[in-house]
Amino acid sequence: MSSIVGHWIDGTEVTGDSGRTSDVFDPATGKLARRVALAGPDEVERAVAAASAAFPGWRDTALARRTRVLFAFRQLLDESADALAEIITAEHGKVLSDARGEIARGLEVVEFACGIGHLLKGGHTENASTGVDVHSLRQPLGPVAVISPFNFPVMVPLWFVPVAIAAGDTVVLKPSEKDPSAALFLAELWRKAGLPDGVFTVLQGDKVAVDGLLDHPAIKAVSFVGSTPVAKYVHQRASAAGKRVQALGGAKNHMVVLPDADLDLAADAAINAGFGSAGERCMAISALVAVGPIADPLVAAIADRARALRTGDGRRGCDMGPLVTAEHRDKVAGYIAAGADAGATVVLDGRDVVPDADGSGFFVGPTVLDHVTPDMSVYTDEIFGPVLSVVRVDTYADAVALVNANRYGNGTAIFTRDGGAARRFENEIEVGMVGINVPIPVPVSYYSFGGWKDSLFGDTHAHGAEGVHFFTRGKVVTSRWHDGGPRGVDLGFPRND
Ligand code: NAD
Repeated sequence: MSSIVGHWIDGTEVTGDSGRTSDVFDPATGKLARRVALAGPDEVERAVAAASAAFPGWRDTALARRTRVLFAFRQLLDESADALAEIITAEHGKVLSDARGEIARGLEVVEFACGIGHLLKGGHTENASTGVDVHSLRQPLGPVAVISPFNFPVMVPLWFVPVAIAAGDTVVLKPSEKDPSAALFLAELWRKAGLPDGVFTVLQGDKVAVDGLLDHPAIKAVSFVGSTPVAKYVHQRASAAGKRVQALGGAKNHMVVLPDADLDLAADAAINAGFGSAGERCMAISALVAVGPIADPLVAAIADRARALRTGDGRRGCDMGPLVTAEHRDKVAGYIAAGADAGATVVLDGRDVVPDADGSGFFVGPTVLDHVTPDMSVYTDEIFGPVLSVVRVDTYADAVALVNANRYGNGTAIFTRDGGAARRFENEIEVGMVGINVPIPVPVSYYSFGGWKDSLFGDTHAHGAEGVHFFTRGKVVTSRWHDGGPRGVDLGFPRND
């Protein structure tokens, strides 16, 4: 791998001329691993020009040929999963098994996109008016931008890219500058799969690259995933520029445990969903809502399991890896201190962790805070680290009120043996993705992924039918073929009879 990670424009890697770079670390060792090129206006222009030039040919490529490229890409991605997982772990830090898991979930969307023909079918009405037929089409938009966060450098791009490409769009992907190499690996796989140059472009960069894409008149749509303030900004700026936008933001996901729940099952789930990927998941459980008398035994069961987790280098078979940067590690540690200062009980303090790793990586171990109240910053803010905050409430109604009052609405889960309570929760809860005895309810690819409230700006969720709709636009054709029917001048509004 070169020491400067470049852009992928017109089928080749280029470093560009901006002269700006950003450091990319190995989070497990804390060492500077490489640098990534940061695009300036010239690179944005070149990337969009390549995507624009490729669009007419790709739009007119037969659907069967487009989906054949998707099938080839699917095969290559599956075969390369181990190599790609190593790249993810080296720059993100998540453990290898988790990196493979994110690739598997991305692969599901590629498989969904292989069957896009079914969702590109239009409708047809014969004889809507006398001798008049009507049919509808869905057509690609043009070049589109995908802007992704650091926490899923493969899965999040794959929520959008295969669907857009299968629909006939061309894509400029702007990955996170913290873990940029996986995007280039994907670009190589697309090339090997037979995708023409320019249909998939990678533009490395920061705010300069993002703003360039948001403002560029040739970019027709923007799919963004990242933190809520940036999602809101992207939605406003790209909408003002006349683009279609879906901007997925941050989260504070609650897991509600009712008194009748299987506590072992709930404790296992809280550990998996709270500390998997060191809490750097938009669907991580960060607030555990213990209802009624089960709080003490539940917290004890969670603390026992959390103490047994092995934190360290993700290549060493550990349970949990480091955080992505030193700054993020310090921010998470700061939240733990703030929680303790505000009166939360620190049941387990991850700042004391002794990781299984060489060097000085960016580690915080599993942390459990009990007696957290809704006014504390550990509750109000998205921490995005391995910090599980336990909020104790008296009733089911208190739990629902707490979740619904939260500004975020990405995911939530309820643990109970009571089908009636679960059904009521499903109906009453103001969150986009709901799990019933399932802690991380990420929908399968043929459903759509997206939250409510401050977790999503725009009205279209990712992948599934909504994703296909986002990357295409509708057209309705009304046609009449004269076979001796009425002719002549008539300025009246056309009537359907
Ligand atoms: P981030 O908002 O810092 O960055 C996301 C992208 O925006 C990156 O490509 C980054 O380069 C760019 N960016 C950052 N600041 C910008 C600015 N001021 N102007 C323009 N572009 C900017 O997010 P992150 O730290 O990379 O990712 C973590 C966040 O993403 C968390 O909040 C997490 O919840 C969220 N996330 C949400 C989902 C979801 O589905 N809702 C999924 C994954 C991650």
